[in-house]
Amino acid sequence: MSEIIKTEAVTLSKINYGDTSLILKLFTKDYGKMSVILKGARSPKSKLGASADTLNYVDVVFYFKENREMQLVSQIEILNHFTALREDYEKMKYASAVTEAVERFTADHEVYPLIFKGFVRILKLINEEKTPPELLFIKFLFFLIKEIGFEFHLTNCSVCGKNIGVTESAAFTVSQGLVCESCAKNLSSVYQLNAELLKIFNGISNRSEQIECSLSALRKMIQLLERYLIFQTPEFGGFKTFKLFG
Ligand SMILES: [Zn+2]
Repeated sequence: MSEIIKTEAVTLSKINYGDTSLILKLFTKDYGKMSVILKGARSPKSKLGASADTLNYVDVVFYFKENREMQLVSQIEILNHFTALREDYEKMKYASAVTEAVERFTADHEVYPLIFKGFVRILKLINEEKTPPELLFIKFLFFLIKEIGFEFHLTNCSVCGKNIGVTESAAFTVSQGLVCESCAKNLSSVYQLNAELLKIFNGISNRSEQIECSLSALRKMIQLLERYLIFQTPEFGGFKTFKLFG
C-alpha cells in the first residue's frame, strides 16, 4: 500500500541518478529529512526537473511507502526560488552554510517543526534583506544551537552565573560558552571577547533586529560558534561550505 502525501520542503542537495533521474535530499516539514527520487526528471519533457534545484522552497507530492529507502515524487512545485541570494556571492555562501547546518545537525526521518520554520524564514531574510548575511547566519546558529540542545547563557557567566554587561571583560570557551574574566582563568581554549563581540551576545539575547558592529566582529563570532559546535559534536568537524566558498 502506498499513500499520497503532500508536504512543504527545502531541497538540500541534488544528484543525478541513472540516465534520466534525479535524487533529491529534502528537509520536509512533516516527515523530516529524507531522500526522494524524481524518475525521468532530466529528460527534456519532464516537468519535475525544472523545480528540482538545490535550495528551493517547494511543495512536494510523493507516494509514501514505509520501509522504502527512497520515496517516489509525482509533483514538485516551487514556492520560493530565492532568486536574489543566488546572484550574490556572500548571500549564497551563508545560505549554503545554513543549509549545511540543517543537514548535518538533524537526523533522517525525524520531524523538526521549529527548525523547518526557522530554516525557511532565514532563507527568506537572507534573500530579501539588506542585513549582512553574516549577522543572519549568526542569528540562525544561535537558534539552531538552542534547538539541538547545546544552548549556553548569553548574558551571564556559564560557570559562576555572574551577569556580564557589554562594558565588562569576558571570554568565550568552546566547552562552556560565555564566561567571566575570573572563571576564564581556570579554563582552556579561552578567547577574549572585545566590546563588539559582547554587543553581539547582548543583541542576540535582546532579540535586536539590527546589531551595529563591524564585519570582522561578525566573522569572529561565526568562528567562535563554529569552534563551539566542533567541541560539542566532534564528528561535525567544521563547515565544509566555508572551505568551498573561501
Ligand atoms: Zn564566572
